[in-house]
Amino acid sequence: MNNNGFIVYIIGTKAAGKKNLSLNLGLNNYEIISCDSMQVYKDADIMTAKATAIEQTIKKHHGIDLLDLEYEGFNRKQWRDMTINKIEEIQSKGQIPVLVGGTHYYIESILFNQGEETQLLYEDKIQLNGKEPFEYLKEIDPLAVEKFHPKDSRRILNSIKYFQNTGLLPSQQIDHHQDQFKLRSYNFLILWPKWKKHEDLKIKVAERINEMLDQGGTEEILRIFKRLENKQNKMGVLHSIGYQQFQKVYQYYKEQGFQYPNVDLKFKELLKEGAENLINDTVLYTKKQIQWIKNRILGNSKIDIIANRLFLLEFESAQTLNEQVILPAQKIYNLFCQLFQVDKLGDDQFQISQQNLENIKLLTPEMITKYNQTQQLKSRTNWKKQECEICNKLMNGPFEIEQHFKSRTHNINVLKDEQLQKKKQKID
Ligand SMILES: [Zn+2]
Repeated sequence: MNNNGFIVYIIGTKAAGKKNLSLNLGLNNYEIISCDSMQVYKDADIMTAKATAIEQTIKKHHGIDLLDLEYEGFNRKQWRDMTINKIEEIQSKGQIPVLVGGTHYYIESILFNQGEETQLLYEDKIQLNGKEPFEYLKEIDPLAVEKFHPKDSRRILNSIKYFQNTGLLPSQQIDHHQDQFKLRSYNFLILWPKWKKHEDLKIKVAERINEMLDQGGTEEILRIFKRLENKQNKMGVLHSIGYQQFQKVYQYYKEQGFQYPNVDLKFKELLKEGAENLINDTVLYTKKQIQWIKNRILGNSKIDIIANRLFLLEFESAQTLNEQVILPAQKIYNLFCQLFQVDKLGDDQFQISQQNLENIKLLTPEMITKYNQTQQLKSRTNWKKQECEICNKLMNGPFEIEQHFKSRTHNINVLKDEQLQKKKQKID
């Protein structure tokens, strides 16, 4: 990929106005690439919040309707390779690719230069010789064990897989982990629309989901379940957020031999239950989405570079979206297009000045420091074990260590210990 091209990313949680913003950047010089692992499927339109036919006539959309519903096993590497081609194609026409979506796992494969995704080619089976994974790893690579939390089974298993597939020690891989999040280029802009209050996001999610179900979503769900009924589809669309929550609804619908919309009260109850589950799962997912931004973006070692190219656009309500998100974003986008034209953006010394962007909030140094500190504490490269002799407790990594020294238990034990020492002194 030509790293001199300009790319815009619109990131954030579900129901945060990303799509609206992507359609309204103000200039007519860009095309949209959807970064959404569900929108790649044809015929799954409503519950995936795919751009409608009308929206697609306003702006050219890519990254949607790529696969049949029956298709399984589409992976990030395939998505990335295809998207890189698309980016080049858009840029060669003199247009700007605007990447929009909530599948941050996809976005990071473009934003960062992560090298080849060898992990996906791994044999999934591992040989543990009858041992617990943690014990096994301890034997092959004691250094790696020092850096993992014993309960972090996902990373432990991945490390074993890595060892058995490459013959290399996982502890060496940990040092390479940081390299995974190296920026591919500095020619980018990130727009991050965000609800000011998380409570309001929850209300919006519920509203949006109920709307989708009322406006054709229910029929879409029933249709998709019917179509995939005799297929395995263990990895595909039926197991994703938006559809999996309605298994029971379809089951009952089929048993009763209903023809939608001729259903009964029980169907409606099950549907309501499915909607509630979907709302809860979606809200949980928004927390993961925010966590991704904190970990990968705000916690990135090049946050000084990113901070000059990232804009958090907080808004209070749907009524203020235009004033608090769309209008400022148009101003920013316009400015960044100009900066790119004069070759300023890719410079690592480039600094965005508050003057150019009156009333637009930049990430403050305090915010960045706050995120960075937590990040460093949690960082796996800093992992080590430490014992608190007073409490006789073993802690994993600096984050746990700090938590422990702040904890009530520890402080009570310290007091007890002091009293004990005094008593001893008296006796002596
Ligand atoms: Zn202690």
